[in-house]
Amino acid sequence: MKMSISSGHITFGYRNIDVPFLRLPEITGRYNYSCGLYSNGHRERTNIIGMSEILMFDFDDGYPFDKCADYLNEVGITAYLTTSRNHQKIKGTGEKAKPACDRYRVMLPFDAPINLPFGVYQDFYRYVRELLGFEELSDQQTPDNTRFFFPNPDQKTKFILTGQALSFSFLEENFRAWQALEQAKEKAEHEKKQKQRDKKGQSRTEKGLLENEVSRHTTIHTKRGTYSLCDFEYLQGDDTVPCRCINPAHDDKNPSAFVGRSRKSGALMVRCSGCGFLAFMGAE
Ligand SMILES: [Zn+2]
Repeated sequence: MKMSISSGHITFGYRNIDVPFLRLPEITGRYNYSCGLYSNGHRERTNIIGMSEILMFDFDDGYPFDKCADYLNEVGITAYLTTSRNHQKIKGTGEKAKPACDRYRVMLPFDAPINLPFGVYQDFYRYVRELLGFEELSDQQTPDNTRFFFPNPDQKTKFILTGQALSFSFLEENFRAWQALEQAKEKAEHEKKQKQRDKKGQSRTEKGLLENEVSRHTTIHTKRGTYSLCDFEYLQGDDTVPCRCINPAHDDKNPSAFVGRSRKSGALMVRCSGCGFLAFMGAE
């Protein structure tokens, strides 16, 4: 199994390794590890040269370890389970503290590296999560290619060995069909909403924008420079870029806002945590 590990820093000093599946406990107990492989040890998107054969799911909300192991056994999927550092510990402090419960990772080996580009990888992750029925049970966030995990020296581990690894080529083909379906669903939903809006008689401005929309060419100030809103179309999934608020009524000295995508519609949006401003990118 290819993966990258670092014994100290969480961002630098990663080594790409090839470890036999059954020896994963030696990694997950000792090193920071990531499913991304990096060209110069720097765990960063632009340095990715490939991905691991492993897809990893994080269980953080109390779905029992043993139940999960039994389920994987039943469906016949080879897997490695390892508890994470907050397993059976109270997580956080004060009002936000989460009670002690089973917290662990499930690592599923595929028969080939999951070499999908940034963004597509996240979609594939969501697809497998849905396929396995893990949507409600595992971490709701969709990890990107560069995600890393801390080791747990006190880990409890378990192997499910069914003799069957998931086939990447088979699942990828099905994934492409799923993706097309998801996009069609999204489009239909968008059109439906558009019609509802039109029915309500919500007027478009001269520029053809709806009330909650701003122009594609709206100026966005980030720490790195000045852009047009449409320059951020590359953003995928939960990716965001901090920017100054674009609400004319909010004189924003800090970047209190961000550009990101709506989880519901996937539309590009600007949201401000300072003043609550929210606007979507229009077609014009
Ligand atoms: Zn604002």
